[in-house]
Amino acid sequence: MQKNRLVIASQNLNKVKEIKSILVDLNYEVLPAFQVIGTLEIEEDGSTFEENAKKKALLTAKAADCLALADDSGLEVAVLNNQPGVYSARYAGEQATDEDNNQKLLSALADIPEGSRQARFRCVIAIADPQGKVVTCEGICNGRITFKPRGDNGFGYDPLFLVEEYGKTFAELETGIKNKISHRAMALQKAKEILAGDLAKNFLGN
Ligand code: IMP
Repeated sequence: MQKNRLVIASQNLNKVKEIKSILVDLNYEVLPAFQVIGTLEIEEDGSTFEENAKKKALLTAKAADCLALADDSGLEVAVLNNQPGVYSARYAGEQATDEDNNQKLLSALADIPEGSRQARFRCVIAIADPQGKVVTCEGICNGRITFKPRGDNGFGYDPLFLVEEYGKTFAELETGIKNKISHRAMALQKAKEILAGDLAKNFLGN
């Protein structure tokens, strides 16, 4: 049976690899966007994860003329009105490093006691077709912000994000465990259901 093509709107090869491995048993040929349409610069200027994910998926699907999948994710801290949110990558400025962002977050929470440091990672995935139809799903991972960085694995806010159930930060957890419980993993499982189900056949005209 001929495989349907699914293009991943991400420059991050690790992400593409993770998505590929989760969708491996479905009838899709999963390819990074740059392999199909070259580099497509898409500004992530939405005010929500949904807007950014949808924009990336729709533009990529149109350019590649096949189904496209895009994600957007970030950290939401309850006591900061869900900031940094869509600004997670550039919380401490456009050129900010992970360390700059982590320092800014620790400063913003300097006076906040342990019981009020709840946070969550959110990931929204959008799947679009070239005709402009799009569906989204999301994954959430709850945790708490520590008082100082802990652990060396991962990236971004991982050293500050404590998962209560394990008593470890994302940066202290083994990658395999993080990849099972993360916001991205949760969203990808839902995306897999969408791609495996009738929705992809009917709604996305696949
Ligand atoms: P993106 O949607 O993967 O580009 O993520 C945007 C930003 O959110 C990243 O640059 C990180 O700052 C933060 N972020 C998203 N997912 C994670 C994660 O799993 N661990 C740590 N930080 C993350």
